Amino acid sequence: MDPAIYEHIEAVRDTVIRFMQTEVAPVMEGYERRGEFPRALVRKAGEAGLYGAVFPETVGGSNMGYLAATVIQEEMARNDVRFSACNNQQGSTCPSCIYFGGTQEQIRKYVPDLLAGKTIGMMSLTEAGGGSDAAGAMQTFARRDGDVYRISGQKMFASIANETDVGVLFAKTERDAGARGITGFIVEPKKYPGWRAQPIDMLGLSNALRTNVLFLDDFVVPVENRLGEEGAGFKIAMRALQAGRVTVAGKALGIARACFEDAVRYANERSLRGQPIGHFQMIQSEIAEMATAIEATRALVYNAAQSMDNALPSNRIAAIAKYHASLSAKSCADKAMQIFGGYGLAKEYRVSWLKSYADLFFTGEGSANVQKILIAEDALGYKLADRHHGKTGLREVRKSGGQPG
Ligand SMILES: Cc1cc2nc3c(=O)[nH]c(=O)nc-3n(C[C@H](O)[C@H](O)[C@H](O)COP(=O)(O)OP(=O)(O)OC[C@H]3O[C@@H](n4cnc5c(N)ncnc54)[C@H](O)[C@@H]3O)c2cc1C
Repeated sequence: MDPAIYEHIEAVRDTVIRFMQTEVAPVMEGYERRGEFPRALVRKAGEAGLYGAVFPETVGGSNMGYLAATVIQEEMARNDVRFSACNNQQGSTCPSCIYFGGTQEQIRKYVPDLLAGKTIGMMSLTEAGGGSDAAGAMQTFARRDGDVYRISGQKMFASIANETDVGVLFAKTERDAGARGITGFIVEPKKYPGWRAQPIDMLGLSNALRTNVLFLDDFVVPVENRLGEEGAGFKIAMRALQAGRVTVAGKALGIARACFEDAVRYANERSLRGQPIGHFQMIQSEIAEMATAIEATRALVYNAAQSMDNALPSNRIAAIAKYHASLSAKSCADKAMQIFGGYGLAKEYRVSWLKSYADLFFTGEGSANVQKILIAEDALGYKLADRHHGKTGLREVRKSGGQPG
């Protein structure tokens, strides 16, 4: 890495670590115990610039780029992955959908407050019929009624939908048109009736930042809150997910590092047969494999992020980075659990819940199999992953003249 970039990135890293240690660590357990969404902390994280790294200053971002955003996600996840569960809603999928698909007025009205943590975001695409086939599975329907749409249906895994002020939701406006029948909407659940979010009891995930089943019953969205034209929604969603993929890989890297650090500490502390278990060769083997996986993942993920910063074709490398990082997180979590023995299953030790988050990143935001399909189809020449190069990230949008949408 270029020494100047390295220095800048390490300064960003230090800022995040300081924020997580001074602001989040002292209070996060309390939020978890109370099952309370940490709204004040999100606001502080927004003020500290933790959500706006890939957005230009004109909309409240810092324009630091994808490598910085990836390192922010990495360090937030490494320090407390539970608090990082709303990062995408604040700094990636939700504001990206608005930035890519919205009018200048919509962007000005909603994006700066999301990045500042003043409003709480969410992005809901998935339905119960299958997240990997979001277009095929979508049943939720938005009916035009004069100056408003009335949306009815049920969304699945709508993270933070029980707290959101401003979100992006996708629904069908034409039932039988597949992906071309999907439209995006900017939603404001606190202003209109017909929105009920029911938190799901998830294994090992945060009690404060929840994912939900979302019930919509003639939920009202003014026509001026439609994102782009009717039928343009799926492309907007895919573009936003694609742009955020590398930062999700950063999060998985942070989980792998947290597991590694806890495992090393525990292997030095736990004594059996008169010596720390770190002296046992089979424990050393696990530690060596974790260290190797982390270094390989770091190189791959940072390379993919820099590729995006340089507006190079990045979809293939980002998919590889996300897939590999999620594998590393899963394997480091498994190894840490083994090293902790029975204590790894006690909630008191965070490896127990880091394992659940590792599993989540294996599935969420494009499952491992979906990434593998993209990688393999590219390799076999069936469908090039970077065929849409030039429309991927915010950096590319800005380089091409700064006109989103
Ligand atoms: C905690 C959590 C938070 C989430 N937050 C959000 C959110 O905020 N917004 C949102 O929209 N969604 C969210 N999701 C949904 C998430 O993106 C989906 O879970 C994901 O897309 C997978 O969908 P699914 O769970 O329905 O699995 P499915 O799509 O049913 O997949 C099941 C299995 O089949 C595999 N598979 C699928 N297609 C193929 C294929 N063609 N070939 C081979 N294997 C295949 C998958 O890899 C997986 O292993 C969240 C999920 C979780 C668990």
